[in-house]
Amino acid sequence: MARTFVTLTEIEAARPVIAPHILHTPTLLSASLTERVGVPVYLKLEHRQITGAFKLRGALNALNSLSSDERKRGVVTASTGNHGRALAYAAGLQGIRSIICMSNLVPGNKVNEIRKLGAEIRIVGTSQDDAQEEVEKIVAQDGFAMVSPFDNPAIVAGQGTIGLEIIDALPDVETVLVPLSGGGLIAGIAAAVKALKPKTRVIGISMQNGAAMAASLKAGHPVSVEEQQSLADSLGGGIGLDNRVTFGMVRKLVDEVVLLSEEEIAAGIIHAYAQEREIIEGAAAVGIGALLAGKIRLQGPVVALLSGRNIDMGQHRRIVAGYHATETVPCRA
Ligand SMILES: *Cc1c(COP(=O)(O)O)cnc(C)c1O
Repeated sequence: MARTFVTLTEIEAARPVIAPHILHTPTLLSASLTERVGVPVYLKLEHRQITGAFKLRGALNALNSLSSDERKRGVVTASTGNHGRALAYAAGLQGIRSIICMSNLVPGNKVNEIRKLGAEIRIVGTSQDDAQEEVEKIVAQDGFAMVSPFDNPAIVAGQGTIGLEIIDALPDVETVLVPLSGGGLIAGIAAAVKALKPKTRVIGISMQNGAAMAASLKAGHPVSVEEQQSLADSLGGGIGLDNRVTFGMVRKLVDEVVLLSEEEIAAGIIHAYAQEREIIEGAAAVGIGALLAGKIRLQGPVVALLSGRNIDMGQHRRIVAGYHATETVPCRA
């Protein structure tokens, strides 16, 4: 299949399409991180987005790009949670049928919440690839439209609207920190940011446990990696061996990819809670975690994108309880 590169024009076109249904989330100065690292650090509070993650932006834009026949039959996806949730919600808004396929690794709280949004759920296998096979069956047998969580130009353009909002809020931004999994989020943001401010650095952050995009960049082509448990469960899964959008965009536009240990991710969750009073999931904590770990070359102003808050609350309590004795977050670098 032909490779695709999403441009600023497509991202600007997505903005009014999704605007009536999303929150325009704030970009706020973090006093604690600014003091800690010595350059101004801002947090883009996208974890407060409706459905608890940024993925609603891409899902709304992707549904808008379907033909009326496709909308009548319905949509199907494999998702580690937040995309499925966003697609279920967006499809529900528009009266479109949705089926969400996912693996056994997806946390129970995410599964239940998607079911409540009105989607049909299919749980298959132990990996994102198993779930993806089920999607392909439903596409072939029932004619549903597949909506990838990331490798779809309309999804990338929808997520890219975050880049427009970051530049609007902070025209002088020099470094943008973005959680990285399949790369739809960072591809869209980087396309917008680099078109408007070519010198601004866009840095992707993943976990050390099973980062498929980082391994693919290193190999020079999409590769699969073994899926592992991580606090950043929303960053799990492959990029697709037949990736046609995000791999090429990430390779071209992203300045650097940084990998974090589980402890560094936990430190990000704890800092967000103790210092910022924000509950965020592991995937969303990687920007803060990377700053605390000293893994980002400091060139400010910095924006760290907090991408979602759909963490199991028992897990969140256990993580922050490990450190409850102190209000000051220890440096785990
Ligand atoms: C999906 C997701 C990401 C990663 O987005 P990609 O487009 O797959 O790179 C990061 N954080 C959260 C909370 C997510 O749900």
